[in-house]
Amino acid sequence: MNQVADFTISDADALNEQIQSSTFIKGKTIRELEDLIKSFGEKPFRAKQIYNGLYVNRYETWDQFTTLGKDLRKFLSERTVISSLQVQKHLKSSDGTQKFTFESELGSGKEFESVWIPSGDGGRKTICISSQVGCTLNCKFCATAKLPFQGNLKAHEIVDQILQVEKIVGDRATNVVFMGMGEPMHNYFNVMRAAEILHDPEALNLGAKRITISTSGVVNGIRRFIENREPYTLAISLNHPDPAGRKEIMDIEEKFSLPELLGAAKDFTRILKRRITFEYVMIPEVNMSPEDARKLVKIARQLDCKINVIPLNTEFFGWRRPTEKEVDSFLRLLEPAEVPILNRRSPGKDINGACGMLASKS
Ligand code: SAH
Repeated sequence: MNQVADFTISDADALNEQIQSSTFIKGKTIRELEDLIKSFGEKPFRAKQIYNGLYVNRYETWDQFTTLGKDLRKFLSERTVISSLQVQKHLKSSDGTQKFTFESELGSGKEFESVWIPSGDGGRKTICISSQVGCTLNCKFCATAKLPFQGNLKAHEIVDQILQVEKIVGDRATNVVFMGMGEPMHNYFNVMRAAEILHDPEALNLGAKRITISTSGVVNGIRRFIENREPYTLAISLNHPDPAGRKEIMDIEEKFSLPELLGAAKDFTRILKRRITFEYVMIPEVNMSPEDARKLVKIARQLDCKINVIPLNTEFFGWRRPTEKEVDSFLRLLEPAEVPILNRRSPGKDINGACGMLASKS
């Protein structure tokens, strides 16, 4: 009995591996697609045609790729799939924000979310995407942390969030942020392949600065990001200006301490010569005291950064959202930092689509 079970598992694993590595067409970089096409004995320029079909024309079935010829289309449709995410839930907020729930190929009920966030004036249109189903981190203020971790999304599931959301809203995003469910640095490989496709002028053609990868402070991931000279914007969820206080609200502090994290952040700005973004969720009585503000100013003055503050959106442990007045006085205390400070409106609260509210199960 055991033997049968073992056999079944390894077989399924192998099949899974095969499906992920070759048959899924979306989520492959142009080089991976060229290798695959060559392995089929086809000319490499076919890869480019397929790539353009997927990301410029947004085709979803092989029939639509008329430039390829009938025989090749038939051949490809027998060996590969162009899988598209199916929307499970679609919620619209009164403020224009829209939330989408998708089911991952990881399995039935393994859902993740994306959020469409238009700015009030219609200029900026941001899609917030997920990199994992659930999250392994345990940030005390975040709803996603309350879900069980279910696994990493594949590159095609990451890219397809943008394709599907744009198809439904009938518009194109100007910015993509990896600030949905999950820790992008814990799914580095798939996240960076997806980001490459988003950025590639031959594919989704989004400027690198308009793609933001947000991390809770996974220092080895940040180091890898720097080493690889990834062109994207990096955001760090700082959330508290001293190690002891940070440890109270973010378990990651135990693994990667604040001084270590700030060291990596400084290296980022020094080596890549780019500004880093700090995110700071404002929780009254937790991280908004004048002393906290003073420490945050001290950090901000050490490197080229900007600070995005986000009023708390959840109410765990009796915590509450800061009042406008509390936010204003905290922001005034941050002025001596002399860095840009943005109060992220964090829209979509009525549909649980705002920062830290993504938990499709609840
Ligand atoms: N794991 C990554 C990506 C998620 S980004 C990271 O932590 O950066 C989600 C952002 O929303 C983070 O900056 C996080 O600090 C913030 N956030 C989480 N829960 C929140 C809440 N309840 N209210 C406001 N912001 C929250």
